[in-house]
Amino acid sequence: MFSNAKIKCPHCGNLAMPVSRKFSLGPAVATKCDSCHEKIGVPYYSMLVALSPFLLSIFLTLKLESILSMITVVLLGFIAMTLIHLYVIPIVKK
Ligand SMILES: [Zn+2]
Repeated sequence: MFSNAKIKCPHCGNLAMPVSRKFSLGPAVATKCDSCHEKIGVPYYSMLVALSPFLLSIFLTLKLESILSMITVVLLGFIAMTLIHLYVIPIVKK
């Protein structure tokens, strides 16, 4: 499922890190490529892009009345945030 995640290094084009490590990356957190050891990270806008479905889902819960649908909506927002972080947000040079 995670095989197409964007974890290629912008410096050398090789695999920069395991997918699990991309989860720990934030705009202020740079890391080093496993292959070439150059500094890489996620762009500054990534936080906003990835967080928006999650924030939207929290906002949507204000319109819902049952706890179960609130939990479902927030869970979907969280899943969307995770998928965006893995597949849409690119790894960039730092
Ligand atoms: Zn590299």
